[in-house]
Amino acid sequence: MLAEKINTDIAIIGGGLAGLACALQLAHSDFQVSIIEKKPYPRHKVCGEYVGMESYDFLENLGLPLSEWQLPRIQQLHLSHENGQFLNTPLAPGGFGISRYKLEHALFRLCQQAGVHFIKGNVQNYTKTKGDFSIQTAEKQHIRSSVCIAAYGKNPPHEFKTHPEKEQKWFGLKWHAVSDIPATQINLHFFQGGYLGCSQIEQGKTNICLLASRESLQASENRLDVFLEKVAFRNADVRSIFTNSELLFDKPLSIANIQFSKKYPKPADLLHIGDAAGMIAPLSGNGMSMALRSSKMLAEEIRKHGLQSSKTFDTYPKRWQKAFQTRLSLGNSLQNLSLHPMSLPLLIQLGKLSPTLFQKMIRLTHGKSF
Ligand SMILES: Cc1cc2nc3c(=O)[nH]c(=O)nc-3n(C[C@H](O)[C@H](O)[C@H](O)COP(=O)(O)OP(=O)(O)OC[C@H]3O[C@@H](n4cnc5c(N)ncnc54)[C@H](O)[C@@H]3O)c2cc1C
Repeated sequence: MLAEKINTDIAIIGGGLAGLACALQLAHSDFQVSIIEKKPYPRHKVCGEYVGMESYDFLENLGLPLSEWQLPRIQQLHLSHENGQFLNTPLAPGGFGISRYKLEHALFRLCQQAGVHFIKGNVQNYTKTKGDFSIQTAEKQHIRSSVCIAAYGKNPPHEFKTHPEKEQKWFGLKWHAVSDIPATQINLHFFQGGYLGCSQIEQGKTNICLLASRESLQASENRLDVFLEKVAFRNADVRSIFTNSELLFDKPLSIANIQFSKKYPKPADLLHIGDAAGMIAPLSGNGMSMALRSSKMLAEEIRKHGLQSSKTFDTYPKRWQKAFQTRLSLGNSLQNLSLHPMSLPLLIQLGKLSPTLFQKMIRLTHGKSF
């Protein structure tokens, strides 16, 4: 295969939510932007598909006609434990439901209209000489850029890893379904070693998303049917969802390499956004908003300081820490507490006895509109 050479002002590795949103903003500021993405659009992704309200205005300002799409507005949280205890509580500011398929495809099209160049490739490595990046893909493309943005999600390309691979502990599954779940409610049903979340997305469909420890699957002979029956269905609400829903996928979408442990140092010459910068526990339903907000903060800094300035490497990480440090640690602690069989009943009790305190805690895992 002949090597393909591409020159651009800004190269973005990864065209998920963070990469697409950042590219769109920078293209609108007349930068030449290229996204290198390994998977074709449109595509489904394992995700709870609940987006915090803080992102609503931002997405509309980017050009997505969210209000025309009549998306479900989610304002109620239902939590359940396998011992039958449950909690119903208002969720403020709450969020809305939309599939990753629809959301990313719409952003992809806006990017195309704005002149973002898409390169289908799997980034393997990069070098930096005299201030310029040279990015190499498995498909033998070479992309030269002045700025390189890391938006590759939770798993860096192998050569970027500055630390040895750690044991991956969690797996995720997703189905779309037709069910009778109320459009205004998100349900989180916990079982030993994991939980299932479900809420509505567009066109009255329901997203069902499961996150569980790999050990619980291994203890079920690595068979999903055995795992559901022996582990997940111990929460009667989980069984009821599968019994009363018509699943729209032949088999679930899956990911097997989720890790929430402390992140190691990242390559210092790249600017990180989205999960590549830091991943919040999915339970908080906030990763997408963090991806979008970080894309906005970085686009603003690049606009302000220009392509060659080292100032962005000083100002952007500081803004990132200020915006996300509290919600990251709180979101991760809340997920750990909820997954602990002894502490979830206490959390449910807290929600019943002190709804204001409980709601304040949830609010702290979300941000203000941006
Ligand atoms: C089970 C689960 C449920 C979740 N539920 C929710 C929820 O309900 N609400 C919420 O807000 N958040 C949720 N999240 C978190 C949310 O999915 C992420 O925070 C969000 O996807 C981050 O966006 P991103 O653009 O940083 O990464 P991604 O969406 O992962 O995008 C990264 C992109 O980079 C591409 N890429 C990766 N490596 C390379 C490479 N080497 N070369 C080229 N391309 C590459 C990938 O193909 C991908 O398209 C959930 C996460 C999980 C795991």
